[in-house]
Amino acid sequence: MERLSIQIQAIDNVAVAVHDLPAGTVLESGVTTRDAIPQAHKIALKDIPAGGEIVRYGVVLGYAKADIAAGSWINEHMLHLPESPALDNMPWGTNILTPDQLPDPVRTTWLGYKNENGPAGTRNLLGIVTTVQCAAGVVKVAVERIKRELLPKYPNVDGVVAITHPYGCGVAINAPMAYIPIRAITNVIRHPNFGGEIMVVGLGCEKLTYDRVLPPEDITPENCLTLQDCHGHAAMMQAIVDMAETKLKKLNLRKREELPLSELLIGMQCGGSDAFSGITANPAAGYAADMIVKGGGTVMFSEVTEVRDGVQMLAARCVSEKVRDKLAAEMKWYDDYLEAGGVDRDANPTPGNKAGGLANIVEKAMGSIAKSGTSPIVEVLSPAEKPSKHGLIYAATPASDIVCGPSQVASGIGLQVFMTGRGTPYGLEVSPVIKVCSRNEMKDHWFDLIDISAGDVATGKATIAEVGTEIFNMILDVASGLRQPYSDLYGFHNDMCIFNPAPIT
Ligand code: CA
Repeated sequence: MERLSIQIQAIDNVAVAVHDLPAGTVLESGVTTRDAIPQAHKIALKDIPAGGEIVRYGVVLGYAKADIAAGSWINEHMLHLPESPALDNMPWGTNILTPDQLPDPVRTTWLGYKNENGPAGTRNLLGIVTTVQCAAGVVKVAVERIKRELLPKYPNVDGVVAITHPYGCGVAINAPMAYIPIRAITNVIRHPNFGGEIMVVGLGCEKLTYDRVLPPEDITPENCLTLQDCHGHAAMMQAIVDMAETKLKKLNLRKREELPLSELLIGMQCGGSDAFSGITANPAAGYAADMIVKGGGTVMFSEVTEVRDGVQMLAARCVSEKVRDKLAAEMKWYDDYLEAGGVDRDANPTPGNKAGGLANIVEKAMGSIAKSGTSPIVEVLSPAEKPSKHGLIYAATPASDIVCGPSQVASGIGLQVFMTGRGTPYGLEVSPVIKVCSRNEMKDHWFDLIDISAGDVATGKATIAEVGTEIFNMILDVASGLRQPYSDLYGFHNDMCIFNPAPIT
């Protein structure tokens, strides 16, 4: 028989509807629905008194505002949010899995572009980075010309990317938090997919001067071009095109080679989540993450507000007190950042999340954390920092899809796996994005926009291991340049929205 509802832990007093269920449906647990239950929404499995705990994933999502009878639909208006977990003295290292407890990778090598330092590239790109938004219009036009006139002559180069961003001037450049956007720009210049070729275009009068993003030895006429030094439009375009051609000649010498998984660095993100995300797409991605980590590779997950309510679970997976302390510090920083803005973590869920059955940020967080798999957390990074270790990394970033993506790109990911319940055409130009949806209805609807559906996990037709292995194989195929995800096929690429918590003047 078709599965009707999913209860995750035995102690849960709610289940989630696999499909839209009419009132009067008898569930697997024997409970009869009192209301029509929308797909992915919660059903009370027991009578819950006012003030009683609502438990899913074995975790208290919140407290009932009024009595809830067994069989009722539980929506986001029916529960109070619990306090966020305390950050002091969280137990660490109490849930460290050993490699034999992680799934074996079904492949151990991939084809990448080896770099002198750090992870290998998944693409061979010329990246042209602006120091200021003022230069963006010129660089975008120049990139179109480079693609048209030069790129066909250099067949080993996969593309030319203009890294334009809103930072660089009209900002308080020495403000305490300015290091975050500055670090993002500094690190993206050295993205593994740019093969060590540096091309930075500035205007000439901006606050973000070359010395803030490059070491002295790299500030040369070969690497840096200042628009105000160019005599008119034609000379400006020619200068950019000439510099680009010098770089393309070098990049064209690069070739893919067979590499171990330890050369791979990828990111995980979710967005437009629904109540299935935490049972299908995110755990399947987590299974793939575990395979990569077991194979020696590096996987990054992020999104502070979406892990905040499960922070103790992450602390339990931290390999040292130092890693736990950095985790707590990053959470504290974000608590303060939100508080300064007059909100808290519950500002996160979107109308779409709620329509998809996610009652609040606690429920969203429990699903979101599943994409990290089960490996130990070996390092915690501040926004846009680069990892120094192999394994599972927590990189603190906003949960906003369009800010988390660029932040992980600055941290050096060669690819991102993106889980969605509601659907998004999201993509990144520097690093290919594989999209995994949580429900088969989503895949049917956006059959040529979503790469993989994890929906069969909900219906019982596939296991997390099966879909996780499918995701793993696609990660390696895309990283190796053997397959193109839909976002790259259509050129759907979001802007480089870097995180800037510092003042704009
Ligand atoms: Ca997100």
